[in-house]
Amino acid sequence: MKIALIAHDRKKDLMIQLCTAYKPVLEKHELFATGTTGLRIVEETGLKVHRFKSGPLGGDQQIGARISQNEIDCVIFIRDPLEAMPHEPDVTALIRLADVYEIPMATNIGTAEVLLRGMESGFMDWRQFSDSEHKHALEPDF
Ligand code: PGA
Repeated sequence: MKIALIAHDRKKDLMIQLCTAYKPVLEKHELFATGTTGLRIVEETGLKVHRFKSGPLGGDQQIGARISQNEIDCVIFIRDPLEAMPHEPDVTALIRLADVYEIPMATNIGTAEVLLRGMESGFMDWRQFSDSEHKHALEPDF
């Protein structure tokens, strides 16, 4: 699966802890991240990560675009609910696209753990939604 990882600044330490704890799960998948989050994950966990631009510079939108092309299967976005972000519209747009394309998305560490444990056990097969008629109806014809 292709997993996108994003963490707001005050949540980056938490993301590193999550990636360290679930490294055996995460290393079986293809990982993507916004710039700064990705750099920290690479440096502090040794996981391989494809990095997009930093979130405030368009990284969230790049991940949203990948979702619209069916190139991201799951998003773990550890948001900071207590701080205003200059790129809040991008964050909202990313969450909206995850809902449009029925992509599982965790926005806090509790749900992130549930998703990762689901992946670990093979219990969750949400990719069935990827093949839904609804989704095919959204495919461009070019
Ligand atoms: P960053 O972006 O990983 O480059 O810090 C995350 C965000 O704030 O969207």
